[in-house]
Amino acid sequence: MPMKLHDMTQIMQDTARRGVGSRRWQRPVYEHFLPPCNQACPAGEDIQGWLSHAQAGAYEEAWRALVANNPMPAVHGRACYHPCESGCNRGSLDESVSIHAVERFLGDEALKNGWTFESAPSTGKKVLIVGAGPAGLSCAYHLARQGHTVEVRDAAAEPGGMMMHGIPAYRLPRTELQQEIARITAMPGVTLTCGVKVEDLAKAKVEGGFDAVFVAVGAQLANHLNVPTGDGKRLVDAVSLLDDVSEQKKPQLGRVVAVVGGGNVAMDAARTAERLGAKDVVIVFRYDKDHMEALPGEAAEAFAEGVKIRWLNVVDHFGADGITVENVTMNADGSVTPTGETTMLAADSVVMAVGQHSDLSLLATMPKITVQKNDTVAVDATTLMTGEAGIFAGGDCIGG
Ligand code: SF4
Repeated sequence: MPMKLHDMTQIMQDTARRGVGSRRWQRPVYEHFLPPCNQACPAGEDIQGWLSHAQAGAYEEAWRALVANNPMPAVHGRACYHPCESGCNRGSLDESVSIHAVERFLGDEALKNGWTFESAPSTGKKVLIVGAGPAGLSCAYHLARQGHTVEVRDAAAEPGGMMMHGIPAYRLPRTELQQEIARITAMPGVTLTCGVKVEDLAKAKVEGGFDAVFVAVGAQLANHLNVPTGDGKRLVDAVSLLDDVSEQKKPQLGRVVAVVGGGNVAMDAARTAERLGAKDVVIVFRYDKDHMEALPGEAAEAFAEGVKIRWLNVVDHFGADGITVENVTMNADGSVTPTGETTMLAADSVVMAVGQHSDLSLLATMPKITVQKNDTVAVDATTLMTGEAGIFAGGDCIGG
């Protein structure tokens, strides 16, 4: 008689199996892993869970399943570089499931229909969050859902952090961003205070009677190159440029703009320069194409808009009419070697997009918290707690 085993899907014909003894009773071993899309999602979404609701047309259930992990689907459905789709198994058959587009649709449906978050009864615990960027707001949401009282403070005049001041509006429209932020700050127990910089975290914690603190100050200070500026023309950093544009200012960059750097911020700065009227935008990047730092999609969009790039070039010095760049060669260990061959690049403005770091001066009175060499806070990889009990950190100030 066929025998059905509880952990096998097929009927096992035990009389047809070869071998004797234990081989006849070997069972498959099941190991449980995250699906590749979930594994790739930085927000940790249960993608196949919410997609199955969406496929059934149950959009509110889909949205609720999605926001169990990520409270800003309209934002991520626009600004996220969707690594989930690169991980999608369906891509090896025909093409990946359009997770990003469905997420955006669900986010927009929620805004259109006024769906709001649920939260647990108050726990009586009070948490201070420093920074109202993506990490701080997400933390506020998850704590409020669990019934904790949360106070979010941000030095800027409005919440959003790099979503508001770093990602250009052509990639992330401000209406949806502001609506999704407002839905978080309207949750019971959440208070948002903008325009207030926390200077001394230890003092703020004691004075406010907070049970815990989450530091999410981001990385909004621009790095600079240690090269001579001479009587160089207009030299701006990409963070300030993108911030100015987000505030509806119109920086005058001129017709020819050089952007130094090769990451996503460099691409945003280059595309923004074009939108400000530059006719010729050239990125100067120290590595070759195989070592591009920007995401391929971001770079492809910039190049499609006419942005040019000089691979294997470093800045030698800034001059009155532009910058002098030097050709370099790449070494096997990833370093570069100058060749001595230089070229003068005419440019009306030079935009520096060579990375950012955090202002962590608020931690100066907490000696148990370690600030690492690259200006990031050391935290436990699982709990995100710093060396000081009850003080946690996340987002760009721990390195993303
Ligand atoms: S698009 Fe959404 S689901 Fe995909 S990786 Fe980004 S946040 Fe995750």
